[in-house]
Amino acid sequence: MKAEETVRKAREQEACIPAFNVPYLSMVKPVIQAVVDENSIAMVQIARVEWEKFEAESLERVAEEYEKYKKEGYTLLHLDHIPVIDEDYQQVDYMAFLERAVRAGYQSLMVDGSRLPLEENIRVTKEAVRLAHEAGIACEAELGAVMGHENREMPPYEEIFASRTGFTKTEEAERFVKESGCSWLSVAVGNVHGQIAEAFRDRKKPQARLDVEHIRELHQAVQIPLVLHGGSGVRQQDILEGIAAGIAKINVGTELRQTYEAALKEGDGDVSCAQDRLYHRVRAYIADYLHNTDLKDRLSQ
Ligand SMILES: [Zn+2]
Repeated sequence: MKAEETVRKAREQEACIPAFNVPYLSMVKPVIQAVVDENSIAMVQIARVEWEKFEAESLERVAEEYEKYKKEGYTLLHLDHIPVIDEDYQQVDYMAFLERAVRAGYQSLMVDGSRLPLEENIRVTKEAVRLAHEAGIACEAELGAVMGHENREMPPYEEIFASRTGFTKTEEAERFVKESGCSWLSVAVGNVHGQIAEAFRDRKKPQARLDVEHIRELHQAVQIPLVLHGGSGVRQQDILEGIAAGIAKINVGTELRQTYEAALKEGDGDVSCAQDRLYHRVRAYIADYLHNTDLKDRLSQ
């Protein structure tokens, strides 16, 4: 099963592939089990910030753990956010990470040049796309500002939504996709990341809304599958309408991480108990929230 084809098929059927972040290695097993038991399809993914600031160790360690439990036809391994400029505004040797991910067997990659000016973002994305395509895999890119990873207070959510702060601009998106050649585009349309800086990471995310009309307009302009980051805590109706309008991959991090961490805390560090809690949370997300039970059968038709 190839990531590019899977996401394309999802889009054709107005469905969506969730991508679950695993900032703790022991999250990999229950996430995969939940996907298989729902007879669904999902990605397991890891971002650089998660092995740096949580306990996933490295992209290679996540790939190793994934290899132990993966199930062909149900799961895919994706490399999430490799920033060019990171959340602490440091330069990152992004190509080195992307090359390591190719060697470790990742089936798709993301390069995040969203903190750069448009021209620069196009240039670095093109470079990443070339590497990914040579390896025969998909490359996701981001345009617009999905806030929340930075180590500072965010403006109140309603203010972000009302002012359209950081929203992806349609003309820029059209040009960006044409020139960079990326496979999927992560957009800012009302979604926000869960905060990960030490001081904020246990906070409940504000309930986000999506500008569904804007999603539709962006999708019509770029004609490739759109990706929604910050998929935790978005109003369900907005998610379902967003999927119909062009979202074909949705990243889910905060909700699962906080579920797992809370269970660990309550159980005095009991990993198997936390894994069990996470397993049920992922099943509920797939079944009740995305209506993705039996997606595997639907996409193979
Ligand atoms: Zn993200």
